[in-house]
Amino acid sequence: MERIIYLDNAATTRCGEEAAALIMRLLREEYGNPSSLYGMGLAAEKEVHRAAERLASALRCREDEIVFTSGATEANNLALIGGARARQKRLTGIVASPLEHASVLGAAGWLGENGFAWRQTEGTAPQDYAALVDEKTTLVSCMLVNNETGAVSDVAAIAEAVRQKNPQTLVHCDAVQGFGKLPIDLRRLPVDLLSVSAHKIYGPKGVGALFVRRGVRLTPLLYGGGQQKGLRPGTESVPLIAGFGLAAEIAAARREERFTYAAALRARLCEAVQGWGTVNSPENGSPFILNVSFEGLRSETLLHFLEAKGICVSSGSACSKGKGSHVLSAMGLSPSRVDSALRLSFSHEVTPEDIDTAAAALREGVDTLARARRSAHPAG
Ligand code: PMP
Repeated sequence: MERIIYLDNAATTRCGEEAAALIMRLLREEYGNPSSLYGMGLAAEKEVHRAAERLASALRCREDEIVFTSGATEANNLALIGGARARQKRLTGIVASPLEHASVLGAAGWLGENGFAWRQTEGTAPQDYAALVDEKTTLVSCMLVNNETGAVSDVAAIAEAVRQKNPQTLVHCDAVQGFGKLPIDLRRLPVDLLSVSAHKIYGPKGVGALFVRRGVRLTPLLYGGGQQKGLRPGTESVPLIAGFGLAAEIAAARREERFTYAAALRARLCEAVQGWGTVNSPENGSPFILNVSFEGLRSETLLHFLEAKGICVSSGSACSKGKGSHVLSAMGLSPSRVDSALRLSFSHEVTPEDIDTAAAALREGVDTLARARRSAHPAG
């Protein structure tokens, strides 16, 4: 099979070998239900605890502050809807930026239609959040790394600015694109809730977690058995949870080396597109994501041109398939820049030669498609 050059690691990553082997073992050999009272159940329960310990160690929090979910979409919904509903008698305001992931915007939108006042910030600086916080604000949600551009927010400063306005306001952080990549230390980061997902860090799809700081109350979204402290009932997916724990441990151990490596790949691609691509990512953004526009072309056309050469990239985020990017539009970029944007995202499995091959294919695509466009619509 032709080698795929996979430059869409912000959409999902390939599950690592160690995590995949552990998952297989737990599916086929040690398949007990963690709630069962005999040995196999206890062994399964131990796996869930071990994964929570691994995650807690990567995030610098306590094991009992981890709630496993089906992914970050659910973690974000639990944080926003669960956090807001637990305190709805006194506090009713929700604040978030329009650049958030669809799962945060969707949950905030639902709250807005169900008795809460949901307000969108002008920007992502601490004062933009603080400006909208008042005595009724129950929760502010801010992402660590934007999934389309790689822009990094100063979450600590945002949380502090919010607390100064209202010490009762909960601060939630969607850390999906930062976890395992940027340092996160929950002993110092003053947030109450934080969402992470396994499949962005070489773990399996369909599992994530919500950090819930001790003492923070949430109303569950689901009702059932008492699993996950009653906050997320349902038999735990032991294989996926254990795979997540192992992937988190590995990501934490290799974080610095992977960060430096990704930064070199990103710089190489940035340099290659200089003069014919317009970079939409901030220079000091995450090294794992580069968003570039090729004005005059359509992202999808270029994406399929690259696909034919075995190169996978994304137009916008994978979760908003086919729709123009709400993030780039909210950033105020021109429609031609929004419509021609590609997101390329890196991993330790991408080589510098892959970047050179992708850059050459991009150049060829831009030239070929621009020529085709000119001959279809001759000037004058
Ligand atoms: N938040 C961000 C910033 C994301 O990039 C994603 C994944 N696209 C999610 C939330 C949702 O994560 P999951 O796929 O685990 O539901």
